[in-house]
Amino acid sequence: MYDKNNIFAKILREEIPCEKVYEDEFSLFFNDINPQAKIHILGIPKIDCIDLFDFINKSDAAYISSFFNSVNSVIEKLKIDKTGYRIISNSGKNGGQEVPHFHVHILGGEKLGSII
Ligand code: AMP
Repeated sequence: MYDKNNIFAKILREEIPCEKVYEDEFSLFFNDINPQAKIHILGIPKIDCIDLFDFINKSDAAYISSFFNSVNSVIEKLKIDKTGYRIISNSGKNGGQEVPHFHVHILGGEKLGSII
């Protein structure tokens, strides 16, 4: 069950602020409050969805396409397309997800350590 009081739902309702990087009708991208790299942006769709699995199940092809095109817009805006980046999406207990609203982490701006 989606928790409407999670912190990203509050950001979407503008009940708490964020440092916006990109926004359109379908998605919002903002700086992570506790950055793990020089560039650390979170991207979220504007529908109630818990994780990637839930997002894909609840969205049509146009919405999914729009969200990932927005990821590309952010990559272009931040000029990390050539230098590289890492995209992560945690899910659930085993995935170490803290905030139960689907999000992608976009990390870059420096050489990142190996994770696998
Ligand atoms: P995850 O563990 O994948 O759920 O990641 C949640 C991320 O949200 C963490 O990297 C946090 O630093 C970040 N975060 C939590 N609260 C905020 C906030 N108010 N604004 C921006 N980022 C946040």
